Amino acid sequence: MSVKRTIYLVEDEVHIQQLVKYNLEASGYSVSAYTSGEEMLEHCESVLPDMFILDLMLPGIDGFEILRRLKQKPKLKTLPVIMLTARSEEFDRVLGLELGADDYISKPFSIRELTARVKALFRRSDIPTEAAVQVLTAGDISIDLERHEVYKGSEKVDLTLKEFELLKILLQNRGRVLSRDLLLEKVWGFDYFGETRTVDVHIRYLRQKIEPDDSKPAYIETVRGVGYRFI
Ligand code: CA
Repeated sequence: MSVKRTIYLVEDEVHIQQLVKYNLEASGYSVSAYTSGEEMLEHCESVLPDMFILDLMLPGIDGFEILRRLKQKPKLKTLPVIMLTARSEEFDRVLGLELGADDYISKPFSIRELTARVKALFRRSDIPTEAAVQVLTAGDISIDLERHEVYKGSEKVDLTLKEFELLKILLQNRGRVLSRDLLLEKVWGFDYFGETRTVDVHIRYLRQKIEPDDSKPAYIETVRGVGYRFI
């Protein structure tokens, strides 16, 4: 998940192009900027981005034409598109949406708003499709979220419901330290009137079941004074 998302931006006004690029990069995206649609489309032949931001009025083909061409290519047509439009350009919103733009934003826009739209659009397009993300794996451990089954190599491991939930949340947040309080809340619920020691006890059971050597955990690491981390 830490791979940088790439955005192809087509904008002929250099100061806007630089402003957008700078700010989106500051938000953690990788941005390739183009002043013409032709140039950008040519680049798509070799490397695909994760999103397009298209200005409408451009030298050469305009934003609508770029959009039309993107939608004709199977490998490009599912990628999200935001259109940039100047108020004076009488942007035909309906046409834009019919052609398959996912969002549009009018100039002058605040950079914060654009960043928020980009984030929101990535979030929307991130919704996993069908069977995706139903099985989580790490090393020789795999969890089938739908069937509630855990395997160590090809061997099925019997976990209690709480152990399963605990393993699932740790694996879903792989690399991140989760505090005992957070685990208690997520696995046992807000109302659980227990102690964080409950978490330690279940971690111990879990280790006995999944670790190659539970005295030297290779999967679930104890972060002293804080909690646990799946590594
Ligand atoms: Ca323009």
